[in-house]
Amino acid sequence: MDADLCIVGGGFTGLWAALHAKADDPGREVVLLEGHTVGFGASGRNGGFVSASLTHGLSNGLARFPDELDLLERWGRANLRGLVADVERYRIDCDLELTGELLPIVAPYQDSWLEEERELADRYGYEVEVFPDAAAMQAEVASPIYRGGIWTKGCGGVLDPARLAAGLLGAALGAGVRVHEHSPAQRLESAAGGIVVRAPGGAVRARRALLATSAFPPLVRSIRRYIAPVYDYVLVTEPLSPARRDAIGWRRRQGIADGGNQFHYYRLTRGDRILWGGFDAVYRFGGPVRDDLDEHEPTFARLAQNFLTTFPQLEGIRFTHRWGGAIDTCSRFSVFFGTAHRGRVAYATGYTGLGVAATRFGARVALDLLDGRSTEATRSRYVRRKPVPFPPEPLRTAVIQLTRNRLAAADRRDGRRGLWLGLLDRLGLGFDS
Ligand SMILES: Cc1cc2nc3c(=O)[nH]c(=O)nc-3n(C[C@H](O)[C@H](O)[C@H](O)COP(=O)(O)OP(=O)(O)OC[C@H]3O[C@@H](n4cnc5c(N)ncnc54)[C@H](O)[C@@H]3O)c2cc1C
Repeated sequence: MDADLCIVGGGFTGLWAALHAKADDPGREVVLLEGHTVGFGASGRNGGFVSASLTHGLSNGLARFPDELDLLERWGRANLRGLVADVERYRIDCDLELTGELLPIVAPYQDSWLEEERELADRYGYEVEVFPDAAAMQAEVASPIYRGGIWTKGCGGVLDPARLAAGLLGAALGAGVRVHEHSPAQRLESAAGGIVVRAPGGAVRARRALLATSAFPPLVRSIRRYIAPVYDYVLVTEPLSPARRDAIGWRRRQGIADGGNQFHYYRLTRGDRILWGGFDAVYRFGGPVRDDLDEHEPTFARLAQNFLTTFPQLEGIRFTHRWGGAIDTCSRFSVFFGTAHRGRVAYATGYTGLGVAATRFGARVALDLLDGRSTEATRSRYVRRKPVPFPPEPLRTAVIQLTRNRLAAADRRDGRRGLWLGLLDRLGLGFDS
């Protein structure tokens, strides 16, 4: 078939791109190819934290993009407002709750973070509420391991990501986007004035193509050096009984990400289940993305154990759902962009576990790159620069496993980061989330 724009990948990046391409120019023929079903990838299976940050938090932003952080914050907040507006405009029922993010601290070495986080939030204009000690924090959310905490408001909240994907699909179809599920694109070929996207049993001849395939094997080979698919796993409890619900407080329903290098993220769902994920980040040699990797017993067991350490009063609760998914990790922990086939193909990938809102921005920028539009964003270093690539295998596995081990060791040793993490920090590659 023929189209003006062919989008490959039906996650948030592809869906936002489809919707905004139609909003830019309703007459444009847009085709979206999705290898499985829309929302099959990270977009349909993530934690549901929706964040204004385009830099994986302020401290990571300051470490990596000090000259552009003011701009990035401005764009990120405008993007979050745009997401909220889109959810209203297209009447997407996705349980969006703008309850901000709560960081409970769980070890003595984290005590100083409360002041540091408050100072950083003040500097960038976020309202915060500090819980200075264990009693204050535990009155907010009842966990015996909490020593204090800080609640940042106005930075986002939580939503049901699968409902958002379904809603965006409905909006895209309503706008006239032609969506083909079970249509994996296999390769790209340059053609006169455009690009051909080949899939089994057919092809799309388009003027432009936008790749939105995240951690999956990319159609532009050079992307591989920048992306390591890292698996992250999630448990969900049965609905809390009224007694259990009372036993945890958490009346203001913030998204919670606790302190530590290996952290958990958790939130309440609409039906008052607890979604509980994170901690382990599993990379496998060669970076495969396969259905059988969606389950990982050792990680599920660790997550369940850590859950009960955090909420011992919920002993006996059942976990009714569990799953995993691949994160498109890159060394700068935020989306990067590129073009191929003489500017006829553009991509946005590398969100590194914080893409629910950032994909909307990524889609916008990728569309502007394809259209050759010069904007404040397309001119920025953030958009023009690539992350530091990962080394090839087997060094890639060695470096990632060493970093994971050292992060876990830092958590055991009062946060002391040691030689390897210190070196990464000095090179501007350290992870501090
Ligand atoms: C377990 C987990 C928890 C997370 N938690 C959060 C969170 O709480 N907050 C947050 O902001 N972010 C979170 N993320 C990250 C977030 O989900 C992603 O950044 C975001 O969904 C990326 O969207 P995407 O559209 O770029 O990629 P995806 O949603 O992965 O979409 C890519 C799509 O492309 C399709 N595809 C791949 N190759 C082809 C091909 N050749 N042809 C056709 N289709 C193809 C795939 O089937 C897939 O549907 C989490 C991710 C995971 C895995």
